[in-house]
Amino acid sequence: MRRKLAAGNWKMNGTGAALAELEALAQTIGTPGCDVLICPPATLLHRAARAAQGSAIAIGGQDCHAAASGAHTGDVSAAMLADTGASHVILGHSERRADHGETDAQVRLKAQAAIAAGLTAIVCVGETLAQRDAGDTLAVIGAQLAGSVPDAVTGATLVIAYEPVWAIGTGKVPTLAQIGEVHGFIRAQLTDRFGMQTGAAVRLLYGGSVKPANAGEIFAVGDVDGALVGGASLKAADFAPIVAAL
Ligand code: PGA
Repeated sequence: MRRKLAAGNWKMNGTGAALAELEALAQTIGTPGCDVLICPPATLLHRAARAAQGSAIAIGGQDCHAAASGAHTGDVSAAMLADTGASHVILGHSERRADHGETDAQVRLKAQAAIAAGLTAIVCVGETLAQRDAGDTLAVIGAQLAGSVPDAVTGATLVIAYEPVWAIGTGKVPTLAQIGEVHGFIRAQLTDRFGMQTGAAVRLLYGGSVKPANAGEIFAVGDVDGALVGGASLKAADFAPIVAAL
């Protein structure tokens, strides 16, 4: 059985004061029936990891460089993330693909570096509205998976987040049938490439405008093993009910 995962992506939000939300979340959820992850900005990682110690909350980064170290001003390596106490890293989020021109090949190298550093890589895929309207959704997702996911992965080192670009931060959510179709397709692709055991073990998250009000019905869709949540992860009062819905 795959253990469900509620992952929060704080994006470029939060200074030290936001740690109060993390502490409130830890208190509210207690010992939940699923894994819980918060990915704060890099500046908060170390303090967040300390604040989460002894709680059910794991801490993750939002990106890493593919290289182990060197002349990459402003970048952070996977080992540096691990050194803060992070256990996961989000890679290839559509905002990084758009803002920083990240390609599938770069995301794959980052995921390799993350796994080598002992982190779980959460690789993001998702189609734009134009791609969905053109009927290209599964082809786009298939190409992103083939290009972004490294060759050596397990259910412990890889999580896939399906995040339709048009659903992120917009309040628009695909139909449950559309979510189910893409998650089933991702599961089949992983099984084809990595075999039954790994294909069945990798957790698949849905992301894009997940809120307390829609979490329950989304989590009931086949092959949805949790969520990657942006806006509704910033406040404990919003995220705790999402955790409770898993
Ligand atoms: P959202 O963001 O929940 O605010 O739509 C999700 C994400 O980008 O991970």
